[in-house]
Amino acid sequence: MSKNKYAVIGYPLGYSLSPLMHNHFFKKEGIDASYISLPIKTEDLKKMVDTGEYAGFNVTIPHKESILPYLTKVTEAAQTIGAVNTVKKTATGYIGTNTDGDGFLLMLKHEKNLSLNDKNIVLYGAGGAAKAICYGAIKSGAKSLYIYDPDQQKVESLVSKSKYDLRYNIIRFLKDPQTMLPQTDIVINATPIGMEKTINESVLNLSELKLLPKHAYVIDIIYAPLQTQLLKLANSIGLQTINGIGMLAGQGVLAEDYWFNKSLPYEEAKTLLLNGL
Ligand code: NAP
Repeated sequence: MSKNKYAVIGYPLGYSLSPLMHNHFFKKEGIDASYISLPIKTEDLKKMVDTGEYAGFNVTIPHKESILPYLTKVTEAAQTIGAVNTVKKTATGYIGTNTDGDGFLLMLKHEKNLSLNDKNIVLYGAGGAAKAICYGAIKSGAKSLYIYDPDQQKVESLVSKSKYDLRYNIIRFLKDPQTMLPQTDIVINATPIGMEKTINESVLNLSELKLLPKHAYVIDIIYAPLQTQLLKLANSIGLQTINGIGMLAGQGVLAEDYWFNKSLPYEEAKTLLLNGL
């Protein structure tokens, strides 16, 4: 019998660390499977799903939402977030989940034994990753979640979720960071500001970071570079920081668990990913 096939699908698909992590897991556990990066254009997505060739796959930009109609069922996490990042084949078809929000929570637990329960949070960005973090925050019982994104429609779509899911009523537009930051426990960057062309930029400047209480955490989910300008500034004034590699490890081990009911330990996954950067 041929190996079971696994993949990460997206388009365009740049260098991905997922094959490194999951192929190591297969080898370690003696699972007869292989994992590849598979670029799939939007127009080919349905065909790829219909062939049923893959036993499981991860989903990245731009298919996280457009895959939904092709799945038989999705979990509560994927339903609430409105996007899927992990799919598995079952006897009745493909079913999907989203491990990004729980991966974020796993990172907080492993890195700083940190919970979002009762915390005041400021979140920059209202895109795909931010939606997953919102899910993690409401699930954990956060006290408030203020979101800033230049695209106000995206924030509005998260704020208006409280009409259907009361847990979302902690979410607000962030209008004036200056007034919120002194009461904020955790700041999260879920924008691409700090990578590639914006590598020298930060969503908050030093004087804004100085408004935070001394106990505040600054989290950047970017992992390339590991030390973004935001984290450098936060470190320079003694704030505690967390970079994005742990979220990548977290969502990956939870994907393995979804497929096989077992996974690499978080620390082992993180070390592998760090070595692959
Ligand atoms: P996305 O869907 O494109 O969302 C990014 C959002 O940030 C967009 O709505 C964008 O608005 C907004 N934004 C841009 N500049 C901003 C600013 N100065 N202040 C506030 N919001 C701003 O991207 P994504 O998939 O959510 O990913 C976001 C970042 O997270 C990327 O850097 C990605 O690498 C990282 N990420 C990390 C992990 C991990 O496992 N560590 C997982 C997922 C994503 P416009 O569209 O108007 O520009």
